[in-house]
Amino acid sequence: QVGSMGIHYDLTARKQLEQELATAKHLADEARQAEKQFLANMSHEIRTPLNAIIGMSHLLFDTRPTAQQQEYIEILQTSADFLHSLISDLLDMTKIEAGRIEVQSRPFDLAGLMRGTQKVFEMKLQGRPIDIDVMLDARINGDFIGDDVMLNQILTNLVGNADKFTEEGSIQISARIRKEEQNQCWIEFSVTDTGVGIPTEKLGLVFQKFKQVNPQGHKHKGTGLGLAITKELVEIQGGTIQVKSRVGEGSVFTFILPFTRSATQSAPVPVPEL
Ligand code: ADP
Repeated sequence: QVGSMGIHYDLTARKQLEQELATAKHLADEARQAEKQFLANMSHEIRTPLNAIIGMSHLLFDTRPTAQQQEYIEILQTSADFLHSLISDLLDMTKIEAGRIEVQSRPFDLAGLMRGTQKVFEMKLQGRPIDIDVMLDARINGDFIGDDVMLNQILTNLVGNADKFTEEGSIQISARIRKEEQNQCWIEFSVTDTGVGIPTEKLGLVFQKFKQVNPQGHKHKGTGLGLAITKELVEIQGGTIQVKSRVGEGSVFTFILPFTRSATQSAPVPVPEL
């Protein structure tokens, strides 16, 4: 008797527990959904006015401002740009942490994407003694299938850092095929700069959130989120990233990502014999 009563009790308790669990799961799903909606709305609500501020401040330059007004406009622009990157980083990190970022693969022109990054930064670097070059393995031609948006964000983050931490010299963006079998290939990218460098003992920290590890005395604005986001974006695609650096000489960020060669691509152009 005691035994069967015991079993009866256990079953009731178990049923109750299962019910509570189901309710909790349902609530968690609802909360996730609400969070997703909230983030999407916030992201839109914040970006829209901010883009207006940035756009209008650029238009103000066309209204023949006085020297003093020009100075104010520049401050307005710098602050708005900084706020924009801060908010983008925070929203990206939130998205990643909520596990709501997905790899979206499609065919794209990889060499073209890299040259595009080079062009954008060439304009930014105008007037500063820094060259920006792209170096490509000859086998990187035609379309590759992968997430071009993520690749672009990774490169932009790394080249953006190279720009922030380099006074003079060069920034080099390069890509080479590390391994290719059938149509699958692993491509190694690197962003090399001749900037301030990172102390050896701090190298392990740079990919952590909110860590800023400049050598003493070097000041800059930033969130310390850029490299944490970059690492997540590389790893979510099945890749790896690492850094080598020497204070006073520069840094090299290297990441490897998998791609598939697009079937529609034309055969590589044979190099003519001399
Ligand atoms: P943020 O640039 O917003 O501070 P990041 O996550 O992009 O944040 O970088 C973290 C830290 O790593 C930077 O604050 C800087 O100290 C260091 N760092 C990143 N890239 C470079 C670079 N190319 N050269 C020197 N230091 C760098």
